[in-house]
Amino acid sequence: MSFPIPYTLIRAKRKTIGIRILKDGSLEVRAPRYVSVAEIEKVLCTRENWITEHQNRVRTMERTKWQYGTEIPYLGTLRTIVPAVGNRVGVSDTEIQIPEGLSDAEIPKAVIALYIKTGKSYLTAETNRLAEKYGVTVRSVTVNHAAKRWGSCTVQTGRIHYSWRLMCVPQKTIEYVITHELAHLRHPDHSPAFWQQVENWLADYEERRAVLREYENYFNSLEGI
Ligand SMILES: [Zn+2]
Repeated sequence: MSFPIPYTLIRAKRKTIGIRILKDGSLEVRAPRYVSVAEIEKVLCTRENWITEHQNRVRTMERTKWQYGTEIPYLGTLRTIVPAVGNRVGVSDTEIQIPEGLSDAEIPKAVIALYIKTGKSYLTAETNRLAEKYGVTVRSVTVNHAAKRWGSCTVQTGRIHYSWRLMCVPQKTIEYVITHELAHLRHPDHSPAFWQQVENWLADYEERRAVLREYENYFNSLEGI
């Protein structure tokens, strides 16, 4: 039986069999001259799961450009970018609908514009809801292009700003970011008193916060965003 995954075999001066997944997801095998193909494939079979897992990850990473057909996160679930019927843009349970016929460069811009628009109403409503619950006053909410920060707060004026990227993460995590910014209205720093305030309002904030790191990695791997 031969190994089911295609690979390139390179005979080399070495004592062991080496396997490597290249940038494009292809499999490269290096083996000593005296080892038979049957023996090499026996080794490959024991590593098959590892090979498939790695290939999948590398190939998904390749698809990090936002194009029609790409699945991208919105409120924590993946939705497919599609050309909208009759140019009616919007977000459904499964799709991100943007105008049709856009160029490669225009597609991410259209998605971001949509996230800013839906983010403005969603994040404003959520911020007001939580502010009322916590008993703090917010003057205004804006959604911006910040790349390094999920949210920020101008304490003196009571204005809160969020990055459109926040619309990608799960709702529970958004709630953490909002709570974080609202806690700044009481404590402008990141002192122990500040974190105590966050915890009082949101006991499981650490779990919710940990999810942000996954999305930070995701954005770091994106091209042209
Ligand atoms: Zn902060």
